Amino acid sequence: MDESSLQSQFEHDFSTSTQSVHGKNAANSPYYALHTPIVHSATYRFDTTQHLLDYMEQKTWGGGADRVEYARYGNPTIRDVEDKLALLDHGADAILFPSGMNAITTLLLTVLRAGQHLVMTDDCYSRTRQFALQWLKRFNIEVSMVPMGDYEALECAIIPQRTRFIISESPTNPFLGIVDLPRLVDIARRHQVMTMIDSTFATPINQKPLDFGVDFVVHSATKYLSGHNDILAGVLVGADQGRMRVIRDGRGILGGMIDANSAYLLSRGLKTLGIRVQQQNHTAQQVAEFLEKHPNVERVWYPGLVSHPDHAIATQQMCGFGGVISFMIRGDMATTRRFMDALRIPFIAPSLGGVESLIEQPAVMSYYDKELDERLELGMTDNLVRFAVGIEDTNDILADLAQALEQL
Ligand code: PLP
Repeated sequence: MDESSLQSQFEHDFSTSTQSVHGKNAANSPYYALHTPIVHSATYRFDTTQHLLDYMEQKTWGGGADRVEYARYGNPTIRDVEDKLALLDHGADAILFPSGMNAITTLLLTVLRAGQHLVMTDDCYSRTRQFALQWLKRFNIEVSMVPMGDYEALECAIIPQRTRFIISESPTNPFLGIVDLPRLVDIARRHQVMTMIDSTFATPINQKPLDFGVDFVVHSATKYLSGHNDILAGVLVGADQGRMRVIRDGRGILGGMIDANSAYLLSRGLKTLGIRVQQQNHTAQQVAEFLEKHPNVERVWYPGLVSHPDHAIATQQMCGFGGVISFMIRGDMATTRRFMDALRIPFIAPSLGGVESLIEQPAVMSYYDKELDERLELGMTDNLVRFAVGIEDTNDILADLAQALEQL
């Protein structure tokens, strides 16, 4: 191919991919590149005023256009990744956000109205709880917090005509509680309430809540989906195209657009999601079984252990139990800190789901600012440790834990 035909091929492929907001053609990348092109453009042009009018007509009255005019409403790189994420979670559509928190806040702010009511389970990510309890209140949206796993309390908390949403995590953080999804969906449908599951800890590899009739799934894509501890991202996947369109418009108003580079890194991470999660499931199971038998460990929470209160539910609705294990060291704050400091492989850092193992003591990290009473009421004792395994060799991780525990 001579240079001018290569150039015209490039222009054709490039415009096809930039115009395809639905991303179906984004794989037709310039020069037949294998990877999703990273498109940086704050605005999108029209060849003529007629071209513009045709677009506006299609967008406004024709059921939606397959391109955008401005970057807050869409981007071809982002759309391509959204399509992949919708497929992974068996959703009708997926919407990307610059963080998991932004996915959650945009969903709730778009769907809820003043005077409505939200039910949420208590074992949720601290910032999600904070947003619901402190921020939604400012908009006259009431929130009822119910104990995780108490389905009677959950049903009783529903206020006829006012409750719009039930939200929960599964597995939860840090005790890895598992929501009985068919039971949750049954309650919600009988009361005509929508459901959202934060499935960050599971990933679409280990569980697909939409298959059980859940309406929306959220992931902090900062974690397993991107998988390399190098970007912040969030995704909302929905079962209903119409509702997703409303939330996509909500994103355009609230302005939570992820940037194209981060979307690309996320798409790169997705290529290895399956094998990373498989390895993390395997290592976490080995670690949980090892810790459970160790005399210097008081208690272990991992849904793959028969001793976990939700093990039976987990085996019915999950294909793997994830890469996070929570446990209590036999001892006090000082003993637990000695254990943490003796470890050589995991980094002491918040987050989870990346290729590097990370470990944290919630009492001195995510719950450090809480009053002691409140922290203990939530189960965040001084000796509680949350370990998120990476993809290092399983035996190396086990040996590292063994040497650190032996020093206590
Ligand atoms: N959901 C869960 C379960 C989380 O653990 C987190 C963060 O740790 C979030 C949501 C928020 O995600 P992000 O940090 O990407 O905003």
